[in-house]
Amino acid sequence: MIQKPKGTEDIILKKAKQIKYIERLVDEVMDKYNYNYIETPIFESTELFHRSVGDTSDIVTKETYDFLDRGKRKLTLRPEGTAGVVRSYLENKMYSLNNQPVKLYYNGPMFRYERPQAGRTRQFSQFGVEVFNSDDPLIDAEVISMSVNIYKMLGLSDIKVNINTLGDKESRDNYRKKLIEYFTPKIDNLCSDCKERLKKNPLRILDCKKDAENEIIKNAPSILDSLNKESKERFNKVCEYLDILEVPYVINTKVVRGLDYYNHTVFEVEDKSITGGGNVIGAGGRYNSLVEELGGENVPAFGYAAGISRILLALEKEEVELDLKDDIDLFILYVNEEEKKYALYLTNELRMNGFTVETEYLSRSLKAQFKQADRLNSKFITVLNSEDLDNNEIKIKNNKTKEEEIINIDALIYYLEENLDLYEEKEAEYDNE
Ligand code: ATP
Ligand code: MG
Repeated sequence: MIQKPKGTEDIILKKAKQIKYIERLVDEVMDKYNYNYIETPIFESTELFHRSVGDTSDIVTKETYDFLDRGKRKLTLRPEGTAGVVRSYLENKMYSLNNQPVKLYYNGPMFRYERPQAGRTRQFSQFGVEVFNSDDPLIDAEVISMSVNIYKMLGLSDIKVNINTLGDKESRDNYRKKLIEYFTPKIDNLCSDCKERLKKNPLRILDCKKDAENEIIKNAPSILDSLNKESKERFNKVCEYLDILEVPYVINTKVVRGLDYYNHTVFEVEDKSITGGGNVIGAGGRYNSLVEELGGENVPAFGYAAGISRILLALEKEEVELDLKDDIDLFILYVNEEEKKYALYLTNELRMNGFTVETEYLSRSLKAQFKQADRLNSKFITVLNSEDLDNNEIKIKNNKTKEEEIINIDALIYYLEENLDLYEEKEAEYDNE
């Protein structure tokens, strides 16, 4: 039998429900914050990622899925969402929309050729936001706070927000020099990737996974000592605004992020319940120069992305159960062909009126149909009966209390509305006890 490609997963059954739950919540929250949904292609020109994510990043050096299409175009399955959104922002001239800043959010699959492990797959879904054309630290604080709000609403509590600043270009150049001075005499004690990083992008050494515990990295100079006045003030503002939003955070100067395009604020949200690496459930930061690097004007931007499977892992580790719908409103049982036809009609009618309804599809015995209704956690059931139907009546039973009533069919929708509400209230009381 053919199996799924290495590092991919089938999202099925409970996991699929959990993911849908998260996606719905994200949609709702984005609606409250007034973000516009955006979809961009899953593949883009390879060059886009080289120019945005950066030639020295892990993603571009070792993780992209590159291919030539039949027209010999160089394409890449997107490893992250920002590059495509920035391209689309420029291509669709969103900078000239009346409504500024432009606030966008996306949700979809990303692809990275990585060593698969828990919470790290080759195809994974991220949702994320990008805000264009505001350099206000308020945006930085608001996006960080929004991400924390989403995690909280999902029921996660073991959350830690690490923030840092990379400063503006002057501060960063200054810092780069200090890092080169510091690391050059010590480089033989670091991994081979770090040796490369020292030449191309020394900041990235701080982000090394292999050497994370190495004292040399731990004792490296802090960016905070290289910031110029403006960058320092800007960072203080972000912190001040986060305090107002009551976001608990720690300043962690080792957070530099894996992508080349960041400046000023960067942040990572960890779930401490996930041990042994891969505990970052979302991350982002400011990228004021990326739009220009991709051919646009000087448009400041801020973004954030969260890995959905990482969130699932966090939920599992924290033993949080999402409130997944695992029941239906009504199961319609029947025996003969005439009743079956009515069942067919009625299921359709009730579904169109907003109820979750199932009926029998396997011609099972009544006894087996009752069992099926239980398996589906049906709140109500009805056993159709030709005689009742001739009298325009229907028998309906509360499947929990087993109380049964005969009602006029014309009153069925009203009856269900009323009684499902009562049912929910009783359930809620029961849950509170
Ligand atoms: P990591 O350090 O874990 O490799 P990253 O720096 O590569 O993360 P980003 O590019 O910032 O991650 O992506 C944002 C989020 O997407 C991560 O915080 C994580 O939750 C998720 N993510 C990244 N790579 C994967 C993957 N291979 N599988 C599942 N989720 C991922
Ligand atoms: Mg990575």
